[in-house]
Amino acid sequence: MEPLISLEEFLKEPKIAYFSMEIGVHNDMHTYSGGLGVLAGDTIRSAADLKIPLLAVSLLSKKGYFNQDIDAEGNQKENPAPWQPEQFMEPLPLKVSVELCGRPVAVRSWLFVQRSVTGGKVPILFLDTDIPENAPEDREITASLYGGDIRYRLMQEAILGIGGVRMLRKLGFDIKKYHMNEGHASFLTLELLLEYRKDIEAVWDEDLVWDVAKVKDLCVFTTHTPVEAGHDVFPYDLFKEVMGEIIPIRIIKKWAGPDKLNMTHLALNLTEYVNGVAKKHKEVSMLMFPGYEFSSITNGVHSFTWTGEPMRNLFDKYLPGWANEPELFVRVGRIPEDELWEAHMASKRSLIDYVNRATGAGLSHDLLTIGFARRATAYKRGDLIFRDIERLGRIGQGKLQFIFAGKAHPKDTPGKQVIKHVFECMKTLADRIKIVYLKNYDMDLALKLVSGVDIWMNTPQRPREASGTSGMKAAHNGIVNFSVLDGWWIEGHIEGYTGWAIGPAVSNESETQEVRDEKDAEDLYGKLEKTIIPLYYGDRHMWVRMMQNAIGKNAYYFNTHRMMLRYVTEAYIK
Ligand SMILES: *Cc1c(COP(=O)(O)O)cnc(C)c1O
Repeated sequence: MEPLISLEEFLKEPKIAYFSMEIGVHNDMHTYSGGLGVLAGDTIRSAADLKIPLLAVSLLSKKGYFNQDIDAEGNQKENPAPWQPEQFMEPLPLKVSVELCGRPVAVRSWLFVQRSVTGGKVPILFLDTDIPENAPEDREITASLYGGDIRYRLMQEAILGIGGVRMLRKLGFDIKKYHMNEGHASFLTLELLLEYRKDIEAVWDEDLVWDVAKVKDLCVFTTHTPVEAGHDVFPYDLFKEVMGEIIPIRIIKKWAGPDKLNMTHLALNLTEYVNGVAKKHKEVSMLMFPGYEFSSITNGVHSFTWTGEPMRNLFDKYLPGWANEPELFVRVGRIPEDELWEAHMASKRSLIDYVNRATGAGLSHDLLTIGFARRATAYKRGDLIFRDIERLGRIGQGKLQFIFAGKAHPKDTPGKQVIKHVFECMKTLADRIKIVYLKNYDMDLALKLVSGVDIWMNTPQRPREASGTSGMKAAHNGIVNFSVLDGWWIEGHIEGYTGWAIGPAVSNESETQEVRDEKDAEDLYGKLEKTIIPLYYGDRHMWVRMMQNAIGKNAYYFNTHRMMLRYVTEAYIK
């Protein structure tokens, strides 16, 4: 059978290879779990639009992440989420091998092509070990996204980093830069060190065979995690058992840490260009990793993907060309206010109707609707709004309704507890405020939410939100943000103009988390009651002005077209 798509056309010019553990290209390809994967997908979509010579490498994750079910008490249940790769792409015949636990593991890749209406194309290689020549357990290595134990994770990262580079070489790509999207892909540096090993005779210092300067020059690293525990760390014993002495452990320790192999340290020491995903995140990263140079390129979202249908039509009418040139949002003031409001209401009605069909909640088209959807994990404080239930009940009765969504990682017990707590509060408030929690937050649901609510709320503990991107999606739909000043919102926020802050700009270091929660909640209630609710019901003209500012100031800047142009000029072309 003739292959439907040929690799040939992609081999003609040198490429930037973008490595990511997860990539969200399509709602029904379960190769993503959340923000990191959606960012990777948006990166690829913008690269295709802008015809940036980029390709991507990830794992096939044929068994997906998981499908979330929640019972009436708020207990999350995880169901399998398999998908059919053959519906979207096809496997390439060439294979490579990676030795794990002393036996060769064969790896193949599936080729998916992300196409843009501009004619740009970005190939994505999804690595897959589920082939007959592998032992049954090895066939599972690339199956489950963020599943299994630490050993499973190590094997996955070996396939991604080492297998990925070998695959690119085998297929005949000419790679100019390797971009690691988070530390999961750091092992690619080891494969590059092996590739560029110097052939020096009579070496007096055997360390000199490792051409660190060459590898550093080839690599770009984006870190995403402002929390120590969020970085992958492996005991050297385990590393040695799984990967052998691919490079002497004594040498690896110099780059990845003396006690344990830290994937972030490995990437930091073998990369010339390192960046954080927002300005604040750069500062936090410099404190976490003293002695390293960090840049910052603030994240964005893919404008077309994250704009709902009614708004797209409006932008087409007044700002033609916006999707490939989001700078045109600067002219948002040309859109008549009544048409902007009507497009918003069309999105809102379709969200509310969807929610009512799905849950029977009986939400209203006319009440001020607040959306909160993100990974359910303790630091995101999804239940901060319920800190004083009676007060929320008084403020919100007859005026507010809420839509929540978000999955907790299967092993994140405190995260699951947050979901349960939201359910308890829903019940307590049932007679006064309608609140729904939608199951199985994914990209399709995200678009419905960020285009259909009136306010997008975010309440993380500072400074743990590296960037956050769902608020940028909301801004593309004229949805106003009401959030803690962290991540991107520090840069996008103008009080009372693009949205509102929750809590202070900087935390008082001497305060306990308990005190901060209390103060943030106090500010949240105060602004809802005194500013936001009166404005929504009392001054529609000003409200629509703020919607325009969300588009003209926030969407204008926080998009992946701007982000990618900066990656090209600051990180890829040097
Ligand atoms: C955009 C998106 C995220 C990331 O949102 P944050 O605001 O960064 O938490 C997570 N999950 C899905 C499905 C998304 O679409």
